[in-house]
Amino acid sequence: MPVKGELLYEGKAKRVYRTDDPDHYLVEFKDEATAFDGLKKGTIARKGEINTRLSALFFQMLAGRGIPTHFIEQTGPREMLVRAVDIIPVEVVARNIAAGSLAKRLGLAEGEPLKRPVLEFYYKSDELHDPMINNYHIAALELAAGDQVEAMEGYAWKVNELLTEFLKPANLVLVDFKLEFGLHHGQVLLADEISPDTCRFWDSTSGEKLDKDRFRRDLGGVEDAYEEVLRRVERLCLNLESVG
Ligand code: UDP
Repeated sequence: MPVKGELLYEGKAKRVYRTDDPDHYLVEFKDEATAFDGLKKGTIARKGEINTRLSALFFQMLAGRGIPTHFIEQTGPREMLVRAVDIIPVEVVARNIAAGSLAKRLGLAEGEPLKRPVLEFYYKSDELHDPMINNYHIAALELAAGDQVEAMEGYAWKVNELLTEFLKPANLVLVDFKLEFGLHHGQVLLADEISPDTCRFWDSTSGEKLDKDRFRRDLGGVEDAYEEVLRRVERLCLNLESVG
């Protein structure tokens, strides 16, 4: 088992520790939740465990389909071993249906399917409140090299396709999501997490929101929604295994 070393970073939802291997970090998921730039704070029971499990399952699915990720293995109920990366300070958001900040900014009704999917970049900066940026800003601020931006774009489109198709049989619509990437010995790896904290999942029949919007918008049933996503994704993975 990897040895948990120095705490390297503590964020809103996770802690990252060094291990006895300089190439590996341990990521620990917390139950704490924040929204609206940290203005709203709360706890979602079992969120740490659920997001660990979901991230592990999604990363494994994606790795099996050609996306290089930082994920190595789940090492505890709320802990996973990952390849050590330096996070590229650019959040990559992919969107299929208008929701959240996009609906507001462009005056679209939430739930309106986009004629074609959209990718957006945000500069990861707490002081600046994560402003939206484009390829030129990334180059001007030297946040990432041109080929790294291309890799992030390519992987984000592929993740959108793979995750959308993967979730369909579970009656989950992938509305939008945020990805983060990191550099490991110069290689761009998908990192961070993939969970109801970072994706919008809607039930394909009822349209019910099964993600962090239940917390952001005080819709109630937050824990149940996270549990429901995990139940459905675990069932998908079991079916995949039995098919081979
Ligand atoms: N998102 C995220 N972290 C952020 C901002 C957004 O994980 O700091 C995710 C969010 O869950 C959604 C997508 O990115 O799936 C698009 O979010 P949006 O820009 O609509 O912002 P929001 O309405 O969440 O503030």
